[in-house]
Amino acid sequence: MRKISMVDLKAQYEKIKPGVDAAINEVISSTSFINGPVVKEFQADLEKYLGVKHVIPCGNGTDALQVAMMALGLKPGDEVIAPSFTFIATAEVIALLGLTPVLVEVDPHTFNIDPAAVEKAITPKTRAIVPVHLFGQSADMDALMAIAEKHNLYIIEDACQAIGADYLFADGSTKKVGTIGHVGCTSFFPSKNLGCYGDGGAIFTQDDELAKKLRSVVNHGMTVRYYHDDIGVNSRLDSIQAAVLKVKLPHLDEYAAARRKAAAAYDQAFGNHPKLQVPVRFDRSNHVFHQYTLLLNGVDRAGLIEFLNSREIPAMVYYPVPIHLQKAYLDPRYKPGDFPVTEDLSKKVISLPMHTELEDEQLSLITSSVLEYLNR
Ligand SMILES: *Cc1c(COP(=O)(O)O)cnc(C)c1O
Repeated sequence: MRKISMVDLKAQYEKIKPGVDAAINEVISSTSFINGPVVKEFQADLEKYLGVKHVIPCGNGTDALQVAMMALGLKPGDEVIAPSFTFIATAEVIALLGLTPVLVEVDPHTFNIDPAAVEKAITPKTRAIVPVHLFGQSADMDALMAIAEKHNLYIIEDACQAIGADYLFADGSTKKVGTIGHVGCTSFFPSKNLGCYGDGGAIFTQDDELAKKLRSVVNHGMTVRYYHDDIGVNSRLDSIQAAVLKVKLPHLDEYAAARRKAAAAYDQAFGNHPKLQVPVRFDRSNHVFHQYTLLLNGVDRAGLIEFLNSREIPAMVYYPVPIHLQKAYLDPRYKPGDFPVTEDLSKKVISLPMHTELEDEQLSLITSSVLEYLNR
C-alpha cells in the first residue's frame, strides 16, 4: 500500500507524466516563459469548459480576489460581506485594500455563507458579497443573487475550492460555480482540484467591460504597452503553469468523479455513526470534494488526529481559528461568541485525506481506524 497523504500529487503526476513533461519541455525550448501562446490556449480551453465568456489568468487565487475588488472599483470604507468560516485570503484582500470586511455566520450543515445573515449585515456602505464555495460545494446562489440584485451589490465568488462544481438554479438551468456572480475567482495552487505545479489563479466574468478592466489590472493597469490607465499589479499565470493546466483540464471531471468515489466510501463507513456528521449535500450543487470534512460530536479531536497519525494517516483541521479571532483581524466590532456556528465548527471539524488517487486499501485503513478510535 502507498503511504497515505492528504493530497497525493505524485501518484496523480505519474499517470499523466508524458503529457506534462512534454508540455513543460515545449515551454522551456520556446523560452516563452511569460505570456507564451499556451497561456491563451489554456484560457480558451477553460472558457469553453466553464461556459464563461472571459477567463483572465493571474498569479494565484488571492490575487484573483484582490484584482476582482480593484477592477470593480471598490474604495476604502466600502463594506464587503464575507463568511466568518473560510480560508484567510478571502478577508485578507478586503483588509489589504482598505475595504471593511463584514463577517457573517455560516450554515451549520453546508458550512457555507448564510443568506439570511448576509441580508441582516447589509448597510448603506455595503458594496459586495463574497460567497466562498467551501470544501467544493456551492453556496446558495439563488438566494445570494436575489439579495445582490435587491440591494444593488456585486457578487464576487470565491471558487478557489470548487472549480468544476455545477450549480442548479431554481428554474432548472445549471452553471459552473464561479460564473454565476459578477466575477468569479479560482486558485490553481497544487493541492486545489485543478492544481498546477506552482502558483496560479484565474478570474471569470461574463461582462466585456469588466474583463477589459481585469486584464488591465493584472498587468500594471496597462492595455497599451507603457501607458497606464489604472493602478494595477503584476499578477500573471506563467507559461509553464499554463502548460501543466492545459494537460490537466481534460481530466478535471474524472478527477471530481474519483473524489466523489472516495467520499462515497467515507459516507458508507461513517453515515450512521452517532458521533459523526458526514458532509451534508446541498441539493442545488454537486460536490467536488476539495475536502471531505466530518463534524465530530463528543469526540476528542486532538486525540483522534494523534491516533490516526500513529498509523501514518494524516488528518487536518480546516480551519481551527475563525477569522474574527485571528490576531491580525481582531476588531472592536467583533468578540468571541459573535459567530457561534463558526466557532463551534472550528472546534469540531476534521478533514480526512482526499485526492484523486485514493486506493480502496487506503480508504479501508482510514475508515476502520477512525471507527476504532470512536468505538473504543
Ligand atoms: C486557496 C484559497 C484561496 C487562495 O488561493 P491561492 O492560490 O493560495 O492564493 C482563496 N480562497 C480560498 C477559499 C482558498 O481555498
